[in-house]
Formats: sequence, C-alpha cells, structure tokens
Amino acid sequence: MTPSRLPVLFIGHGSPMNAIEDNEFSRSWSEAGRSLPRPKAILCVSAHWETRGIQVTAMEKPKTIYDFYGFPPELYAMQYPAAGSPDLARRIQGLVKPVEVTQDQSWGLDHGAWSVLSRLFPHADVPVIQLSLDQGISPQAHYDLGRQLGTLREEGILIIGSGNVVHNLGRVAWEDTAFEWAAEFDDRVKHWILDGNHEALIGYQTQGPSAALAINSAEHYKPLLYVLGAIRPGESVHFFAEKVTLGSISMRSFRVD
Ligand code: ZN
Repeated sequence: MTPSRLPVLFIGHGSPMNAIEDNEFSRSWSEAGRSLPRPKAILCVSAHWETRGIQVTAMEKPKTIYDFYGFPPELYAMQYPAAGSPDLARRIQGLVKPVEVTQDQSWGLDHGAWSVLSRLFPHADVPVIQLSLDQGISPQAHYDLGRQLGTLREEGILIIGSGNVVHNLGRVAWEDTAFEWAAEFDDRVKHWILDGNHEALIGYQTQGPSAALAINSAEHYKPLLYVLGAIRPGESVHFFAEKVTLGSISMRSFRVD
C-alpha cells in the first residue's frame, strides 16, 4: 500500500566511489533505503545535470551515464537499469508553472542519481526520471519549483535531491578531515533546516565567507533547494549521514516526512 505522502530525501553523494565502496556513507544510504515505502516512481534532481532551460528525462529506458574521469573500471561497469517514466515527465510538464519544461531523450541517469539509487533501491525496480538544473534561474526559483513538485509526493512519487551542502573541489584534501569553514557552514545549514529557516538557505549568497567557500559553484547545493521547497508544514527531519570529509565535502543526508 502506498502511504498518502511519500518522504522527500536529500543525499550528499560525494565521490562516485560511494557507489561501489562499502563505507559509512554507502551503508547509511542502504539503511535509509530499507526504511522507505515503495514509490510508484522517483524524481531525482542531481547536481550533475545543468542545462539552459528546464529539462526532464522522458525516455522509456534511461542509460547509465559515466560522467566522471579517472576512476577504476569497476565503476564504469556499473549499470542502473531502472525504467524511465514518460508519463511522469508529462505530468511534470503540466505541473510546474509558469516555466516551460522540455522533454529530453538524450540524457539518462548520471552518477549523482545512480550512485545513490544503487544503494537506496538496489534492484532498480522503480522507474526514475531526472529533472535538470536550469543555470539561468535564481535560488528562489529553484525553491519555488521544489514547492510545486512537492505535490507529487501525494501521488506516490519519491523526490530525491542529490548534491552536497558543502562542495568545493578546488579545496579538497584527500583525507578524512573537515576544514573549519566547511564544518561551520555545514552546522549552520543543519540548524537552518531544523528550524525551517528556508529563507536563510535560499539566501546562501549573503551568508558570508564560509558560505562562499562551501558553495563556490552552486550546482551541488541547488538540489537542496528543491528538497526544501517540497517540505510541508509540520514535517520532521531525520539526518542519516552527517559528516564533512575530504576537507570540503559535506555528506549530510536527510529524510523529511
Ligand atoms: Zn557530485
């Protein structure tokens, strides 16, 4: 039985290696997946698909995309053979206003989607579509889209934002450590989420130097805005991963319902 409203998830995905490594993050995603109700379909907003205008994958069989370089062959052998959902793509075209959403037939599932989906739904037996991040719109506009898409939660659709609250590749340290500015901003984000202070989160560009370092290129942060927009009054937040690693990557992940 499908519950009346599905949860909404944000996953801090970090390295693509989390798809094949058994580590604290991949284990937390698997565990989170086991407690989820079975959705009719999944809508994923991934940091790794930025476009001009908004697009939605509309093919019957999305391909697995290897949008990374220099990783072991094992990772390029990964397949996530979930079906697409042209119906859901059309539903979204009709749902969000006043923007135009274009059907895409060439993308598929990028690693922001499949690295986490392979843990959350390892059997790939739930249809998945992706919505792109329009590079030309404001943080508020991303949030507003999330709010409109939140309606789908009542229709058995699981919305997943896949990015990172703190993500600065230029500053990455290849060890399990957290820079002070990264930990500080991650903690502020945690409390803003818990307090429902979405204004502070939408206004990240005015949050000072640690925010500017944490969100130096906002593509990994933007999926969070969709998740926040899809939250409904009175819901509670459960963090299932909370750690800054590699100096400048926050793996913070949460479920709201
Ligand atoms: Zn990424």
